Amino acid sequence: MLFCVSGCLRGPSRSQAAPANNPRGGWLAGATSRPLFLLILVPVMAATAPPPSSAAPSLDQPSRTVERPRRKSRAVFVGGVQVGGGAPIAVQSMTTGKTHDVENCLKEITRLADAGADIVRVAVPRPEDADALADLVQGSPVPLVADIHFNYKYALQAIDAGIAKVRINPGNIGKPEWEREVLLAAKEKGIPIRIGVNAGSLEKDILDKYGFPQPMALFESAMRHVEVCEREGFEDIVISVKHSDVFFMIQSYRILAERTDYPLHLGVTESGTVKAGSIKSAIGIGSLLADGIGDTIRVSLAADSEHEVEVGHLILKSLRLGRPGVNIIACPTCGRLAGDLFSIVNEVEEAVAERKFDKDLSVALMGCAVSGPGEAAGADLGISLGRGRAHLFKHGEVVRTVPEDQIVETVLEAIETWDEEAEAAS
Ligand code: SF4
Repeated sequence: MLFCVSGCLRGPSRSQAAPANNPRGGWLAGATSRPLFLLILVPVMAATAPPPSSAAPSLDQPSRTVERPRRKSRAVFVGGVQVGGGAPIAVQSMTTGKTHDVENCLKEITRLADAGADIVRVAVPRPEDADALADLVQGSPVPLVADIHFNYKYALQAIDAGIAKVRINPGNIGKPEWEREVLLAAKEKGIPIRIGVNAGSLEKDILDKYGFPQPMALFESAMRHVEVCEREGFEDIVISVKHSDVFFMIQSYRILAERTDYPLHLGVTESGTVKAGSIKSAIGIGSLLADGIGDTIRVSLAADSEHEVEVGHLILKSLRLGRPGVNIIACPTCGRLAGDLFSIVNEVEEAVAERKFDKDLSVALMGCAVSGPGEAAGADLGISLGRGRAHLFKHGEVVRTVPEDQIVETVLEAIETWDEEAEAAS
């Protein structure tokens, strides 16, 4: 963890790091004057307590060696991608173009795969979309998921077409016998199903019971369909309980995480533009991941789908989860800034994204020499700007001094030549 004289990169204090599950906050505060709400909410709060302390990292350990906790979940396989069971957290996205436009849809899927999507979902709202699935499966570089609402027959067709997973919305899939038919077909093919509950499309009786899409309502909807699956002996299940309200979303997943061991697909639904949606997703998905909850993530943005993948990986990287990668840390700058740090950060970040370094290291880019070694000590590599030059740090020790116009290439070269095994042994 880095410390800076301006407090720009301060680590969490013990009090800040404690789980923020303040029972007086948010929606409970508004409900305390309403006894009827309390009847509903008290069990929710009990169920939404943070994970047991044994799952949380010890704050006494040095921050770089803190073990990232993970909830134990079952494993399912989406094509060749394992989800749950301790597998790396898979990043998903969804195409925005028309599924039946096979050529363009495959181009978009390929762009998503190139951006780092492990799994891609396609919407299947029309017969022609269902008809296109076989070609898409053939041409896709990553496993595909068919997203089905309303028409269970499209799910059957998707399974026949070789789709790797089906997402059904329990709130609108229709009669229980239709759902059973889909389960049996998936079971026969050995593919998983995601029970994708969405706050905006809950079953009417559940909405009537709870009054609004509160966490227990989402949980009940999901479990109703989990029970249908289990009755059929079908346990290849992934669950999601998405909500556009980040607080409710977090609580819904916490309930699920405590009461089931099925893998969880995390997402904030209808989260908005790149800016707002990234923040909401980072809070919602990130809070859960920090507690060890979540096996696959999808960031939903009203933007080009590649942004979703990029933000998904940034969330994982921020928690030092996910694939190895270079984690750029940069100070926000202040009156002590001794050079053009913004350009340096942008250039390094762009080059790192482009070169896709398969190395797990953090690189601190700092704007002044006031706190030099101390600030860079928490990172593997670091620079601190001075007047027209910069010190290059390795584990907090100055190893070189370089002119400002050579900083970017020097940092990239240091990343390029970084030898993780040698570093671990030294
Ligand atoms: Fe911190 Fe950056 Fe200001 Fe230096 S320039 S004190 S590193 S914020």
